[in-house]
Amino acid sequence: MARRHAEIAGAGITGLTLAAALGQAGWSVRVHESAAELRSTGGGLYLRTDGQQAARRLGLSDQIADVAFTPDGFEVRIDGAHHALHPRNDATRTMLRNELHAILLRAAKRAGAEIVIASKAVALVDDGQLVLADGSRLEADLAIAADGVGSRLPETVGIAGQRQRYDDGLIRVLLNRAILAGSQWERTIDFWRYGDVALRVLYTPCSPTHCYLCLMSAIDDARASAVPIDVAYWSENFPELQPLLAIPGASARHDRYGKIWLPRWSKGRAVIIGDAAHGMPSSLGRGASVGMLNAVELVDRLSSGATIETALHGWELAQRPVVEEVQAEAERVALARALSAGNRIDLAERDGDVHALQATPSA
Ligand SMILES: Cc1cc2nc3c(=O)[nH]c(=O)nc-3n(C[C@H](O)[C@H](O)[C@H](O)COP(=O)(O)OP(=O)(O)OC[C@H]3O[C@@H](n4cnc5c(N)ncnc54)[C@H](O)[C@@H]3O)c2cc1C
Repeated sequence: MARRHAEIAGAGITGLTLAAALGQAGWSVRVHESAAELRSTGGGLYLRTDGQQAARRLGLSDQIADVAFTPDGFEVRIDGAHHALHPRNDATRTMLRNELHAILLRAAKRAGAEIVIASKAVALVDDGQLVLADGSRLEADLAIAADGVGSRLPETVGIAGQRQRYDDGLIRVLLNRAILAGSQWERTIDFWRYGDVALRVLYTPCSPTHCYLCLMSAIDDARASAVPIDVAYWSENFPELQPLLAIPGASARHDRYGKIWLPRWSKGRAVIIGDAAHGMPSSLGRGASVGMLNAVELVDRLSSGATIETALHGWELAQRPVVEEVQAEAERVALARALSAGNRIDLAERDGDVHALQATPSA
């Protein structure tokens, strides 16, 4: 059989996972990244068991283990008071996003993928073509949109999806935590504040030297949503975090919670995957892990000997219920804890969530 070829839009976590998996399966692969440089923004992330499984199937477990961090437990504090402390769970891995991105980029290149920067895709065609902004039409056996939550490529192949936006948002900021003394900072701490307005900060250590903060609020809280962060406002509400918040020059970004649902993930020989197909609120910290595992599952199907169309159909039939269950849970948790609705954390439920998340099968 002639060597199959894929053109991928997007060199994020999903696109690179897919490029590595397809390359390892013998495909020739080209990835187009619209940005002028290859990197992942957003500081740190949780690599959940589905992401760990995907990494293992790509032979990347050792590289992940070299850079991953295991927080020493999980704590909830409400209005400064300690409320719950869960012990360390060795299945919880955190890491710097750019380290995960770099591992996947190296894996994709090792597997022979060509990566092209400053190359923007503008359309998918169901015969496997990817159309670029410069007008070129690239022929492939499979054209793939892995271009993230802002993707407009599904519509170009006739797939109209639903986009939902929530009234909560958050700022992410990556910081050097060397200034923090004490073992408490080795664990994840979920700070809640019910003052005039409800606010929340998730402190996550993601390497021996760095942590990232998720500063959460209703999106109509202008001071809380401002970037660069309003140090005085956040410090006043979370005095324990003042030393971190006061570190100058930290780059921050604000995102609003959202969800994407597509009625189908492929048409002919065009496929949509990752946040572009099934973006979810970040309430579970799991979207990247879901994208990674979905990519590896797709390549398994494509390697089954079936035609591409049959493989895509079988993949979606098997994976859609799995992905939609996670999406629904992310949505449920996002709404239950909506700061914009003045909702409060349910500690009993939090306990259940923590354990449910860690129990995700890792086989
Ligand atoms: C606040 C927050 C916290 C999160 N925390 C976690 C976490 O802890 N764990 C976790 O698993 N997930 C987490 N997520 C979700 C995770 O960030 C996403 O699910 C993941 O980044 C999606 O990867 P992706 O490759 O599908 O899309 P993206 O990461 O968005 O990558 C898409 C790439 O495509 C490029 N691109 C865009 N348009 C085009 C185009 N037209 N042509 C070519 N290239 C294009 C972009 O520049 C980008 O490089 C979080 C999300 C948020 C918002």
